Amino acid sequence: MPPKQMKQELAAIAAEKGRGAMPKILLAAAECAPLAKTGGLADVVGTLPKYFRKLGVDARVMIPYHRIIKDKYGDQVEYLFSFEISLGWRRKFVGVNRLMLDKVCIWLIENEEYFGGPIYMPNREGEQYAYFTRAVLEALPRLGFIPDIIHCNDWHTGMLPLLLKTQYIDSPLAKTKSLITIHNIAYQGLCSFGFVQDYLAVPDGCFGLMERFGQASFLKAGCVMADRVSTVSPSYAREICTPEYGEGLERELSFRGDVCGITNGIDKTVWTPSKDPHIPVPYSRSKLTGKLQCKTALLEELGLELVPSRPLIGIVTRLAEQKGIDLIMGAMDKLLWDNDFAFVLLGNGDARYEDWLRGLQARHPGRVCAWIGYDDALSHRIYAGCDFFLMPSRFEPCGISQLISMAYGTLPIVRETGGLRDTVQPYNRYTGEGTGFSFTRYEPDDMAGAIRYALGTYGDKHAMAKLIKNAMSVDVSCEQWAFEYAKLYLDML
Ligand code: ADP
Repeated sequence: MPPKQMKQELAAIAAEKGRGAMPKILLAAAECAPLAKTGGLADVVGTLPKYFRKLGVDARVMIPYHRIIKDKYGDQVEYLFSFEISLGWRRKFVGVNRLMLDKVCIWLIENEEYFGGPIYMPNREGEQYAYFTRAVLEALPRLGFIPDIIHCNDWHTGMLPLLLKTQYIDSPLAKTKSLITIHNIAYQGLCSFGFVQDYLAVPDGCFGLMERFGQASFLKAGCVMADRVSTVSPSYAREICTPEYGEGLERELSFRGDVCGITNGIDKTVWTPSKDPHIPVPYSRSKLTGKLQCKTALLEELGLELVPSRPLIGIVTRLAEQKGIDLIMGAMDKLLWDNDFAFVLLGNGDARYEDWLRGLQARHPGRVCAWIGYDDALSHRIYAGCDFFLMPSRFEPCGISQLISMAYGTLPIVRETGGLRDTVQPYNRYTGEGTGFSFTRYEPDDMAGAIRYALGTYGDKHAMAKLIKNAMSVDVSCEQWAFEYAKLYLDML
């Protein structure tokens, strides 16, 4: 649907609800791309508001003023005002700053103690985001911005709906509603009841609303108290209502019965191979020659053998258990011994995986590159230069990497779970349909089977050309995505 029609449809829904204007939204989160990013959450928060503008939704963002933002964007940031908040007996400074990025207003909450270091301080994450949650609620009235809905994201802002409903009923935010989007239910922000009582003045009577296996869960508080809960793909919305994926929240979520799944899109202003400044040669669906040049340049950059005809499989990932690195550990050596392909991994995280990957590179010199670290520009070149993109996740709420890889004509090889199942259509050699390859069981052999199938298909130039065209034609744009959220906001009012 063209954006103009979307706008008209939204205006009609708003009019039906007796609203003259579209709702005012605040997106509250720990990260926002490109300012501060450790994963897909940042992409969502950084991208959605740009597209809301086109639909007439007034959405602003509030995130912590992390050290990394100060270092990179400090000279563009405007200081607005400061005040103090109470966290139990403690008085804490709150600086409110503003950064306009792509015409989106981003408010940055400043406090050196909590945000002068890493985005997530080891052992102090609970304190950081308890502080942030309180600061958001106290800053909004002072800014004169009273949103219709506060859109919370993940556990970091999970306590906000509970505080809003129990401590702000006589404040200017009394009518503000809350939505929480679960980007990953595995991270819950667990802490002691004593901590939430001390820092956020949550009374004993509320403990049941956040209790999970004997601890307080920030995310559960959000899931129970928010007016609506959403997640990032329809499959994941179903999965988290089951014990296998629900991480102890499945009962509350299935009891609500209103968890909806809205599949993420990707920011085409950042992820389009014909306009990507990070890749050596631009290319598009109709003019693919540049892709091979990107591959050659990538092989050179990574120090891999210069054999462009050899299939190249890539991965860009956090090195966490969720991402299926165990499957790679179980299958990759044998695959490399038995098949002719090269493999590049860009990622960082768990030291156990990092060490193993360095070993894999040493065992297969010239054919494996394990680039341990975080490098946004290199990730673009990997998406562009590879033939296949591997994503064997144990679970995947939505996944952005497979969407990016399809946009770059790099065929995803994925495990059929969550958003991977919803977005990648497995190749059918009889009809030629499909946008990638997939497997179901979380077993190294099953992943190896899918990789062998992909490598076998690589030799069939005709099939590959069709698959690449199919993948690059998938609509992963953000317009539809923002439209779905805008409809959800209206539905909530
Ligand atoms: P998750 O949010 O679970 O980490 P997603 O697939 O939703 O996974 O999003 C991951 C995002 O982070 C993608 O944009 C991916 O390119 C990026 N990313 C992950 N690890 C790295 C890395 N080491 N270097 C650069 N980009 C990375």
